[in-house]
Amino acid sequence: MLLIPNISNLESSIKQLNPNRIYVENIRAILETTTKMAKLVCRTAVNKGYFKEMYSLECPNDSCNTVVASYDSLKSIPKFIECENCKLDGRLKYIYGADEMKVVKYYKYMRNDN
Ligand SMILES: [Zn+2]
Repeated sequence: MLLIPNISNLESSIKQLNPNRIYVENIRAILETTTKMAKLVCRTAVNKGYFKEMYSLECPNDSCNTVVASYDSLKSIPKFIECENCKLDGRLKYIYGADEMKVVKYYKYMRNDN
């Protein structure tokens, strides 16, 4: 039997996290469950309007690894992205192709009605 935890019960735990940046791993840890179940919970939360799916792009430069930008859909990611950090560091290369970047999916918590 697959028991999906009640998402509203997660609210107090979620408030201890950064509500703007919730990873599947955070949810997995809170629920003490599997990654598969945590993903399912996140997807359910998106469908119910609790979470919004987000994608962040990380700089491919190993000595940088900064989160360069975040987007609310894969479609809105531009082809080339400038890394401010690499630019400030005076690196020759600071504009990267989106396909070079590491895309990390995370969620944003959408409800704050106390
Ligand atoms: Zn960089």
